[in-house]
Amino acid sequence: MKIICIGRNYVAHARELNNEVPERPVFFMKPDSALVISNRPFFYPGFSSDVHHELEVVIRISRLGRSIEERYAGRYFNEVGLGVDFTARDLQAEQKKKGLPWEIAKGFDYSAPVSEFFPVKNYKDLRKLSFRLDLNGKTVQDGNTSLMIFSFEKIISYVSRFMTLKTGDLIFTGTPAGVGPVAIDDRLEAYLEGEKVMDFPVK
Ligand code: MG
Repeated sequence: MKIICIGRNYVAHARELNNEVPERPVFFMKPDSALVISNRPFFYPGFSSDVHHELEVVIRISRLGRSIEERYAGRYFNEVGLGVDFTARDLQAEQKKKGLPWEIAKGFDYSAPVSEFFPVKNYKDLRKLSFRLDLNGKTVQDGNTSLMIFSFEKIISYVSRFMTLKTGDLIFTGTPAGVGPVAIDDRLEAYLEGEKVMDFPVK
């Protein structure tokens, strides 16, 4: 399986990092070795001193597809959950400055913890999903999919023009504003539609 991540999909977040609001989805990938499940700890990497949390809605691809038309894209995912796109912001800033790829800042081990996945039919409107991240008991990110620049369908359609999507692939759909650093001994709790779906420590 592969993990595809959309960057700059919320205007307020693009602005907080001084990025332009994109005309097309921006995407990058993480390897499957980045995945963390079952609320296992996030182990802070020794090569960074500025790792940020980015809480995101994650969709799980349910069938093989390529060059998927946007109007059919809803048939290609059937589960949704949350994930944290951990980012070594210091390394990313250096890579961006030099115009180099982001993998060392985005694809490292433990950089993609995800919640359980839930059937999309559990939710009455995927275009209005609320989600939030509490860091040590204080809400730091509070998002809603109604604020996404590119919809799930648009993302699937765009990405599948370039690479075949396979069952089990995950798509991180972008973070809202409020990203910030984590530290060893922090506790992260993430809520989807008010229900706690992630609760894990930084070690
Ligand atoms: Mg992200």
